[in-house]
Amino acid sequence: MFRLFLMALVMVMSGSACANSPPASQAVSSAPENESRVISLGSARLHVGLHDAASAQEAEKFIRWVRESADIVSAYYGRFPVSEVGVNLVLQSGVGVTSGRAFQGRDMPQIIVWVGRQTPANDLRADWIMVHELIHLAMASLPRQHNWFEEGLSVYIESVARARYGGLSSRVVWREFVKRMPQGQPASGDRGLNYTSTWGRTYWGARFFVCC
Ligand SMILES: [Zn+2]
Repeated sequence: MFRLFLMALVMVMSGSACANSPPASQAVSSAPENESRVISLGSARLHVGLHDAASAQEAEKFIRWVRESADIVSAYYGRFPVSEVGVNLVLQSGVGVTSGRAFQGRDMPQIIVWVGRQTPANDLRADWIMVHELIHLAMASLPRQHNWFEEGLSVYIESVARARYGGLSSRVVWREFVKRMPQGQPASGDRGLNYTSTWGRTYWGARFFVCC
């Protein structure tokens, strides 16, 4: 059932905010053994689904990751930005958080994140993608031409929110800003952020726009 749900999610993701999703085939690979939990955060409910969870212990590691990421976002905004959201984790072989997307589902906002099941808990906590996708929930969905604003704002707030919560030092935040923001500078012939959808301009150029 969860597998069918994931297939449906992937089919409706065309209007979603993040542009780095793997192909749909990655979401529907092996036989599912699934966990489904509800995380309560004030009056908000996060409906977490784990695709291919190998054990309750493994599921718990990822549930804790979602919970802490939601706490970070709640602390930044003063409350969790939506009353309900579906958070769908596709567990894959390997290490690392591969990618994520946030989009409007049929009944509530949805997030889907692809993550390696062997990823250590500390690496999950150090990764930016889950917080980034949850930050998207607080934003209006803009036309595709203005995707850069959604992404720039989300990547900027994600850094600040994690630093304020204590999971990331301000020194690291500023070091990354100084090191990577030049990737967002316009190349010769650039027609502006509305018309340049490269990764550097969308994420780092936009982050520079919203922050500085
Ligand atoms: Zn995004």
